[in-house]
Amino acid sequence: MATKKEDTKSREGSPVTAHHQRQNLFEVVTAQLHKAYDAIKLESDIAAILSQPKNELIIHFPVRLKSGEVRMFKGYRVQHNNILGPYKGGVRYHQDVYLDECKALASWMTWKCALAKLPYGGGKGGVKFDPRQYDADDLERITRRFTHALGTNIGPEYDIPAPDMGTNSQTMDWMMDTYVNINSSVDRQGLKRVVTGKSIACGGSQGREAATGQGVVYCIQEWAHAKRFNLDGSTLAVQGYGNVGSNAARILSRMGVTLTAVGDHTGYYRNPEGFNPHKLADHVKRQRSLDGYPGGQKISREEFFASEVDIFVPAALELQIGSDEAKEIRAKVVVEGANGPTDTDGDRVLAERGIDIIPDILANSGGVIVSYYEWLQNKRSESWEADEVVSRLERRMRRNYQAVVDKARDLKVDYRTASYAIALERLRDVYRARGIWP
Ligand code: NAD
Repeated sequence: MATKKEDTKSREGSPVTAHHQRQNLFEVVTAQLHKAYDAIKLESDIAAILSQPKNELIIHFPVRLKSGEVRMFKGYRVQHNNILGPYKGGVRYHQDVYLDECKALASWMTWKCALAKLPYGGGKGGVKFDPRQYDADDLERITRRFTHALGTNIGPEYDIPAPDMGTNSQTMDWMMDTYVNINSSVDRQGLKRVVTGKSIACGGSQGREAATGQGVVYCIQEWAHAKRFNLDGSTLAVQGYGNVGSNAARILSRMGVTLTAVGDHTGYYRNPEGFNPHKLADHVKRQRSLDGYPGGQKISREEFFASEVDIFVPAALELQIGSDEAKEIRAKVVVEGANGPTDTDGDRVLAERGIDIIPDILANSGGVIVSYYEWLQNKRSESWEADEVVSRLERRMRRNYQAVVDKARDLKVDYRTASYAIALERLRDVYRARGIWP
């Protein structure tokens, strides 16, 4: 596989991100890991192996757009580790996708899958473009051409993509269809599990669409139970109203949690009476953003972070909570729906201020857990009922949450470090048993 080192710089601030320069995402995950290495005294040779991805692929591919114009696109796939099973992780469409972001996100998938006891490793990829600038025809052409360019670098027992920011079940259906058609095989059904997060009609699982938001909610319930905090009547702020943010807000509303602040790439809004999370989601589906939603007062990004709420769910981009934002947050708990939303300074400031953090690799693992169920159903030619999927997810999420609580108590560390510690111990056991070949 081609290995190329470049564009490792972090994302610049934009009017809707913070003003200061962001940290490099791969440095953030590395710093987080080092705390866990120390906590469990991980052997230096295993730490060295886990410190870099196995493969980093960058592909430039041409696409003939509907207009007839041919445009070059830049795609990425990073495969971090596969000792526990095939690489697994999302595909992101965003104009700021860069290599170190994919490296960090791929490594987070390794820890997330190990923590959740899934038979998967970690991978992540994307295409550097703004999907909002393209219609469905062109998105299909870009997706199919990217899948073709990935070729045998993905596979149902090798590397299994899924949706992430800017992609959805339709993207996965196109990826699956392209992969099945270019890899002619008598086992066309078996190849369908090359991606998860497909539509139900194409072999997707019941419950996958809402799974990440649902998992976020189980974590919030566990936290509330331990703190003897009554969710009924509490308030919520959500950054990013896409798949994760909107599903979390909708499910929480059934428990009496009111969404009073929300924001996306177009701006931030407040409504002390509470937004209707379903109507808000319908608006975003139609308009592709929160922009123009009636029934909320426009506020600044700074005011959004300072919202007087009980629960704060970052569910947009990474590196949104630096020290400036962490000083302003008034919530009792930050539940990381997004991957890597808190940088190292933000983490420290939240801890100093006594604000709890439920870390990404635990909080947003519901998506990959149900992706695993989809992959299993495809493998066995089964189709599970929605309630079966949800009850399996619930059992697993609550068990994982409790394992993190126990580990944090045993090691006297925060939940993030405890989550990494569990994942690293699982990986260490395998490396110790198998050794390093030759
Ligand atoms: P999505 O594309 O459905 O939604 C992303 C949201 O973030 C949108 O509302 C968008 O407007 C907002 N956003 C983008 N740029 C922004 C900016 N600069 N400022 C404020 N808001 C901005 O994506 P998603 O699938 O909901 O993913 C959101 C996060 O959750 C990502 O970090 C992703 O990696 C993570 N995640 C997703 C899943 C999943 O199953 N979809 C699973 C685990 C983790």
